[in-house]
Amino acid sequence: MPPTTAQDDTPIRQEIIDTCRAMNATGLNQGTSGNISVRAGEGLLITPSALPYDRMEPADIVWMDFDGRAEGHRAPSSEWRFHLDILRARPEVGAVVHAHPTACTTLAIMGRPIPAIHYMIAAAGGPDIRCAPYATFGTEALSHYALAALEGRSACLLAHHGMIATGATLARAFWLATEVEVLARQYLGCLPFGDPPLLPQEEIERVLARMAGYGHGD
Ligand code: 13P
Ligand code: ZN
Repeated sequence: MPPTTAQDDTPIRQEIIDTCRAMNATGLNQGTSGNISVRAGEGLLITPSALPYDRMEPADIVWMDFDGRAEGHRAPSSEWRFHLDILRARPEVGAVVHAHPTACTTLAIMGRPIPAIHYMIAAAGGPDIRCAPYATFGTEALSHYALAALEGRSACLLAHHGMIATGATLARAFWLATEVEVLARQYLGCLPFGDPPLLPQEEIERVLARMAGYGHGD
């Protein structure tokens, strides 16, 4: 077993697998697209590359240190670079969820960030959810663009690819991923009517302050 923590990390590995399965069962993702990581000890636990979620077992989850050394019998997700870079750069982040949800990806294909159409935009940290420029999957360039798009935010879109959502816990990151896809669907619903009216910056600031005092229910 890799040197993750002094304790048995099987429950975290199982939570990663359960969340991957939930990601596909809820329609947020499909096939072996997407990947998940959780901070663990001096590194992270991450899904293996290209393994169907219904066949994944706790021992298939890969542990990596922050220098990118992997320990496990599977290859880590091809996107280990942005998972590692986000967890290293953002100490408040405990988990990263990456998926290819249809509405988010449709907007990302069009290079459209999600603006302040609904107050829930503030759940991602500000008045918009940015769209990172395109770079080939699994590259350092994609990680660089994703980190910049996540500046001051906990989610972003990835052009011609999908989305990333982060959270203090895996439950929060998955919750946010679902909320971002709902916002993307709402925005897509508005666009045929023209550019939707947006909430002003002061209102987003009020919502951010209110959300800070709003219970997470977990
Ligand atoms: P992995 O199966 O390697 O995690 O890749 C899926 C993906 O979404 C690549 O961007
Ligand atoms: Zn992807």
